[in-house]
Amino acid sequence: MVLAQEANYYRVRLDPGAGAPVDLLLCTRRARLMKTKQPVYVGDRVLVTEVDWQGGRAAISEVLPRQSLLVKPPIANCNKVLVVFALLEPAFDPVLLSRFLVCIETEHLKALVCLNKSDRATSALRLAVELRVRGWGYGVCTVSTRTQDGIDELAQSLDQGTFVLAGPSGVGKSSLLNALHPGLKLRVGAVSNKLGRGKHTTRHVELFALESGALVADAPGFSQLDITCPPRDLAGYFPEFRSLSACQFRDCLHGEEPGCMVRQSGLERYEIYLTFLAETIAHARILQRTGDPEETLKAHRQVRGAGEKSTIPRLDANYRKPSRRSQRQQIERDGTGTEEDD
Ligand code: ZN
Repeated sequence: MVLAQEANYYRVRLDPGAGAPVDLLLCTRRARLMKTKQPVYVGDRVLVTEVDWQGGRAAISEVLPRQSLLVKPPIANCNKVLVVFALLEPAFDPVLLSRFLVCIETEHLKALVCLNKSDRATSALRLAVELRVRGWGYGVCTVSTRTQDGIDELAQSLDQGTFVLAGPSGVGKSSLLNALHPGLKLRVGAVSNKLGRGKHTTRHVELFALESGALVADAPGFSQLDITCPPRDLAGYFPEFRSLSACQFRDCLHGEEPGCMVRQSGLERYEIYLTFLAETIAHARILQRTGDPEETLKAHRQVRGAGEKSTIPRLDANYRKPSRRSQRQQIERDGTGTEEDD
């Protein structure tokens, strides 16, 4: 498994339990891979050859088929997102969290919510927020990176998966990574000393192996949290709406349609849904006018007055499973193409 890439070098972790004399190897790509320009991503499972056990060196000879690929940040075989929010400071913001969750749902990734700063919140607040987020259909772990409270439980629930961290700034993503991976602090310190300044360069993507077997990536990859799905798809990105028995109207937007089941169900996030619905309708209108997704996004952001920039992972279009409804539209506007990152 490729844990990190720096320039033309790849840090490869050998399968634990394979009985190899070392855990990690520093690898280059074999000439054949270079020639075919076959990219190697962090998170890829690879075969190595020409192993120099003493020097800890080897060459990557083959990349095994990947299950998925995130483009922002570029990580292979990662389909889970750990969404980090604070209970306080900054105050818990259900609309912003929902925005993150909808963006993650539109990428067909799985989300687990981590609430940080539990040491600053009352247990009443903590329970109320946990209950709320569970009611939306998501798993929740509450932690304090300051007191280490809940960190072990979080590490356990991450289990064997590969997760990428997401969340607004100021919620303690880096401290969480440090808390989950105690060896990291030392490493960060060592890098800082070498560079002669106290700044950890986070430009490259790196996977950190936790004791539980999980892999966690802290990745930049800044993009705006635009909700640009077709309006009719939006309800499908709210898990608690999905579990309702289907609305009796075909093609219902669950807005002002009289007698709509979803509207009458009294779901907590219904108001948030309406806010996002208005956004998707506005986006669809501009798209209809301009016919150009890029132009539309620019105009849409101007209208929305979008400010929040944050880390939200994006899945490579080749690995996306479009909803049936948007499949037809995708075929119609095909030809946008995807760029290969190398
Ligand atoms: Zn409806």
